[in-house]
Amino acid sequence: MIDAVVCGVAGRMGKQLASLVLDSEDLRLTGGVERADHPLVGRDLGEAIGRPPLGQTIKGSLAEVVDLAQVVIDFTAPESTLAAASLCAEKGKAMVVGTTGFSEAQLAEFKERVAPIPCVFAPNYSTAMNLLFKLVEEAARILGDEYDVEVVEAHHRYKVDAPSGTALRLAERAAKGLGWNLGEVAIHGRQGLVGQRSRREIGLHAIRAGDLAGDHAVLFGAPGECLELRHRATSREAFAQGALRAVRFAAQAKPGLYSMGEVLGIE
Ligand code: NAD
Repeated sequence: MIDAVVCGVAGRMGKQLASLVLDSEDLRLTGGVERADHPLVGRDLGEAIGRPPLGQTIKGSLAEVVDLAQVVIDFTAPESTLAAASLCAEKGKAMVVGTTGFSEAQLAEFKERVAPIPCVFAPNYSTAMNLLFKLVEEAARILGDEYDVEVVEAHHRYKVDAPSGTALRLAERAAKGLGWNLGEVAIHGRQGLVGQRSRREIGLHAIRAGDLAGDHAVLFGAPGECLELRHRATSREAFAQGALRAVRFAAQAKPGLYSMGEVLGIE
């Protein structure tokens, strides 16, 4: 049995993750954590995620349950994930992190903090999306800079970061296939008299509407044709199932930072 604690357990991903842990045969839900001022802190963990009572309450800090975890699952927000990373490193607990929206400085700090422990960190835990990362890099390499690359993503209205971490990763992989550095070629949206598209750019565009779980398309356009590689998430289950796969991987991994591609054995 692998003991797992879920941070952000009242969130959209947290609820789904906790529920799937409860349903799995080899994982045990040993704690759920929320931000200290969340109204569900102190409520029964099972009831709070729409399941029968579990006889344990949602805690307002990871410190209260970290000792009960073999792996801490964190899908929250950058500041909160950074704090959890410090505690997990101090206690020698593995992590599976899905939080997106880190600034470059936060990302560097996060990587430093998790260095002593096994940590899987992925902007998208879906198996098909991780295959798409690979396909996009390969397509960019084969098509070359004759083809304009544009990344379009759509998410629900509650998402706080843009473009999505997944869109950034798709653009990074396209840039890698072209031998470019994304930081030098990324164009975020276009407005006004921007002039003709240059050959050396990758456009990123974010749509926010309703309750979309996540839609990503990468376009490769040249005169006379356009190739579109697309992934549609129809619910959060694909992310949560992938994250549980990462939990099983992290529980037996040596210290280090791992991608979902490594968990799946495709990188
Ligand atoms: P959400 O807002 O529904 O849930 C986040 C939860 O974290 C909230 O309940 C919030 O109260 C809680 N939280 C905030 N600070 C906390 C703290 N200090 N301690 C404990 N809990 C705290 O958001 P969501 O849709 O579940 O997404 C969460 C994160 O996961 C976002 O960054 C999102 O982009 C990312 N995400 C990643 C994947 C993936 O596959 N990697 C998939 C979906 C979402």
